[in-house]
Amino acid sequence: MAAPEPAVGAQASEASDVAALLEVKGLSKAFGGFQALSEISLEVSAGEAVGLVGPNGSGKTTLINVVSGVYKPSGGTVLLRGEDVTGLGSHKLCRLGLNRTFQNPRPLAGLTVAENVALVRPSRHSERAVLEGGPLGFVGLDRVASRRVSALTSGEQKLLDLARALAARPEVLLVDELGAGLNPGELDHVAGLLRRLKDAGMALVVVEHLMGFLEQVVDTVTVLNAGMAIFRGDLRAAVADRRVVEVFLGEHQG
Ligand code: ADP
Ligand code: MG
Repeated sequence: MAAPEPAVGAQASEASDVAALLEVKGLSKAFGGFQALSEISLEVSAGEAVGLVGPNGSGKTTLINVVSGVYKPSGGTVLLRGEDVTGLGSHKLCRLGLNRTFQNPRPLAGLTVAENVALVRPSRHSERAVLEGGPLGFVGLDRVASRRVSALTSGEQKLLDLARALAARPEVLLVDELGAGLNPGELDHVAGLLRRLKDAGMALVVVEHLMGFLEQVVDTVTVLNAGMAIFRGDLRAAVADRRVVEVFLGEHQG
C-alpha cells in the first residue's frame, strides 16, 4: 500500500521522563468462576512498545478490555501517569489519554470514513503526540475520507479503527491484533505507523501473533498463557524460552 508519510510531531513533556505512563500491577479478572487474568503486571513508558503475545484464549483481549475500562478488574491496580485510574470507564480513560483499537472493529458502517473519525473527541492531553496529517492522513486513508465505511476493504477498516483511536490523541494506545488479516504490504505499513507513534513518544501495548511484525515494533514482550504472565523480557529471549515454546507448540498441535 502506497501511503503518504506525514510527519508526526510530539512536544516533549518533563513529566514523561519520570515514570512509566502506564503501570499495571497485579491485575486480575474473573468471569464468574473462570479466572481470565491472574495478577498481571506491566509497565510502558513514553516512546516504548510492549508486545503482548499468547495463544488464543490466553487473556490478551481481556487485559486490553480491563486496562481500557470495558471491564472492571477483580483485583490489582492501573496507574496512568502515576495516578490511580483503576475501575474508571472507557470514556473517562479516553479523556485522560488512554485509548485502544479493537480486534474486530465495528465502525458506524452507514457513515463515511471522515464522519467516523469526526465523532471522536480529543483527550485532555491533546497537546502531546499531535498527528500533523490528522488521523486519516497519518494512516493513509485521507484519499477515501468521503467513502462509506461499508465500501472499505478489511485492511482499510483496520486502518480506520487505528485512525479513530488516534483521533482521541492518546498518550497510551493499546493495539489488539491490528495486523491480523492484513496483506504483507499493509502489515509493513502498519508496523511503520506504530514505530512512528512510538518515536513520537506514545506508549504502546501491542497484541500480535506475527513475529516479523513484533520484531519491527516492540521493545519487550509479555507472554500470557491461561491468564498468567509466563515470560517478561526481550522478544529474542522469549522465543528461546522453553515454557514459551511449549505453550505455542501445544497450541499448534491442538
Ligand atoms: P485472547 O485475546 O488472548 O485470545 P481473550 O482475552 O479474548 O483471549 O479470552 C480469554 C478467556 O476469557 C477466554 O477463555 C474467553 O472465553 C474468556 N472471556 C473473555 N471475555 C469474556 C466474557 N465477557 N465473559 C466470559 N468469559 C470471557
Ligand atoms: Mg484477542
